[in-house]
Amino acid sequence: MKYPKLLEPLDLGFTTIKNRAIMGSMHTGLEELEGGFERMAAYFAERAANDIGMIITGGIAPNEESSGQGARMSNDEEAAKHRMVTEAVHGAAPDVKICMQILHPGPLAYTPAAVAPSPVKSRIAPFVPNELDAAGVQKQIDDHVQCAVMAKKAGYDGVEIIGSAGYLISTFLVQKTNLREDEYGGSYENRMRFALEIVEQTRAAVGDDFILIFRIAAMDMLEDGMSWEEIITLGKALEKAGVTIISTHFTWHESAVPTIATMVPRAAFTSVTGRLRKEVSVPVITSNRINMPDVAEEVLARGDADLVSMARPMLADGAFMRKAIEGREDEINTCIACNQACLDHTFSGKLTSCLVNPRACHETKLNYLPTDAAKNIAVVGAGMAGLAYATVAAERGHQVTLFEAASEIGGQFNLAKKIPGKEEFFETLRYYGRMIEVLGITLKLDTRVDAEMLAAESFDQIIVATGISPRTPDIEGIDHPKVASYIDVITGRKSVGQKVAIIGAGGIGFDVAELISHSGPSGALDRDVFAAEWGVDFENHPRGGVTGVEPKVAKSDREITLLQRKDSRVGKGLGKTTGWTHRLTLSRRGVQMMNGVEYVKIDDDGLHILAGDQPMLMEVDTIIICAGQNPLRTVYDDLEAKGLPVDLIGGAFEAMELDAKAAINQASHMAAAV
Ligand code: NAP
Ligand code: SF4
Repeated sequence: MKYPKLLEPLDLGFTTIKNRAIMGSMHTGLEELEGGFERMAAYFAERAANDIGMIITGGIAPNEESSGQGARMSNDEEAAKHRMVTEAVHGAAPDVKICMQILHPGPLAYTPAAVAPSPVKSRIAPFVPNELDAAGVQKQIDDHVQCAVMAKKAGYDGVEIIGSAGYLISTFLVQKTNLREDEYGGSYENRMRFALEIVEQTRAAVGDDFILIFRIAAMDMLEDGMSWEEIITLGKALEKAGVTIISTHFTWHESAVPTIATMVPRAAFTSVTGRLRKEVSVPVITSNRINMPDVAEEVLARGDADLVSMARPMLADGAFMRKAIEGREDEINTCIACNQACLDHTFSGKLTSCLVNPRACHETKLNYLPTDAAKNIAVVGAGMAGLAYATVAAERGHQVTLFEAASEIGGQFNLAKKIPGKEEFFETLRYYGRMIEVLGITLKLDTRVDAEMLAAESFDQIIVATGISPRTPDIEGIDHPKVASYIDVITGRKSVGQKVAIIGAGGIGFDVAELISHSGPSGALDRDVFAAEWGVDFENHPRGGVTGVEPKVAKSDREITLLQRKDSRVGKGLGKTTGWTHRLTLSRRGVQMMNGVEYVKIDDDGLHILAGDQPMLMEVDTIIICAGQNPLRTVYDDLEAKGLPVDLIGGAFEAMELDAKAAINQASHMAAAV
């Protein structure tokens, strides 16, 4: 057995979890969608059928003040809808456990009725919360208990109560958000009381044969957050109060340290869980950036945890565990921690899915069913769109030939993977490379095809995924030797001087700025580098893991300015959950950002611009163009002119706003229907 620790059952006394892999909680938006429970049932059942040990649902609020517009379980009618989910999971795999997460956001609720121990507004919350009076505190405790009782009636095997992230329970624990002077505030014993009463009373109400998980912030990443001693004290007290399992979380949402983005090293935080595990006797769950079975196995083998939670990896590949069990880990579609279709969607009020797997949360809508009319299909271009189309069509039974002019698959992803902090992007290329072999796709690299060649081979369908070419802006002097395209820079074909202007501050402008301002090893590959850059002390664990620890970011040797014409804040269009990390990193390295500029000309002196109405000369050695892309459609136009059956996908279809998420999504839908 390749993963003995990961596949080992965990005996909880009254029940057994069949392996150590947990699908962690993740709000998907299905909770609130009309018909969403049916879709949620299919989404979870697919993961259950593929051997995940235990599932924890997205957060469900226990009452009105905690839910805003969100899903809640506060009466029998709300609870009844969940039966569909629990029955689907147990129907798919009777030995898979499913627990419901009870999430009371407290001051982070999107409602003016939000409540908290004290009226302390979070920097990321829309409202100042209402201070709970004594009766209000008791009501919140009762509502948590009732919610757990209803979850049991709805067929769940347990509940997870979230006491981290800046949600209600955690704000009782931390001194700066709990200014109360009654028995729920002041001393740490008092601040723990709310959490412990919820656990004690829930255990009494649900009985002994029900899984009760409590999620704590084992490192909350807050200045003056919880001390290590407080965390241990809480862990021991929770154990006494009756929890079955303690789950460790790392962060409050308002903290300024990335904990799940792609630049965070794999399994960066598990040693913190490992330290807590030594202090308690109940099993502990660890999480964050564990995205492949070998990473999970190592974490368990080190003794860092009893169970490993993977939330996003289960979106990226519903058959993750089945593939691990069968030794087909090279077929796992790995979560690259981009957040682009999951958390960025969640925090923009959109339905969650996954960049690398658009079926996630669409299991009733998008299926790759075997075809009963196999076609001979040519796909031209092996970027993300071409790869997604080719693999989905081949999975369905079509005969696919994939042509690529370059000597490797991947298109623009080959540039992305070269950016420090984006090393995970290799995984998607590994996945597609393997699936080409598994599905018997005929791959023709170093083969630039044209309409004549394709016409000669009598394909039933031709899919053009020829991608994009970088846009060359119409600026006087654009042919000057100082000018380089982002492709020249990322591939190293052109050297970059000491003083640099970057024209265009979209995703690629930021990537290029990251690349040329970076020195030393990538923080994504080296936990010590990451810890130094973000000001985290894993060893001494000061309050929150960060208190008094200054981030050590080396200023770039280069003078770099990122420019855009729009008046909006530079970087505004970057991912909602990750954009801030890029802006902060670059500004710590001394990269300047200018908006509202007009490009006048480029000459031997440098780049001439208007900043506002003021003429300005930027005396730079290199001007890097990151000004978006134009579609490459020649092959398509020629094929269409010949009247051949042809479709256009990816950047060649729409270069504006094109990214891998849109490309894979469009290609997968089209290939599912061909
Ligand atoms: P982009 O995000 O559309 O940005 C293009 C930039 O070029 C903008 O800053 C734009 O700003 C500027 N621009 C456009 N036309 C111009 C012109 N004629 N002259 C001068 N400047 C011009 O495109 P991208 O950066 O090339 O990225 C391509 C796609 O890849 C995007 O969809 C992006 O989401 C994706 N991507 C994402 C990430 C990520 O981390 N999420 C990273 C890399 C790429 P002004 O018009 O204001 O000057
Ligand atoms: Fe992972 Fe990105 Fe998919 Fe989210 S969208 S699950 S981060 S690969």
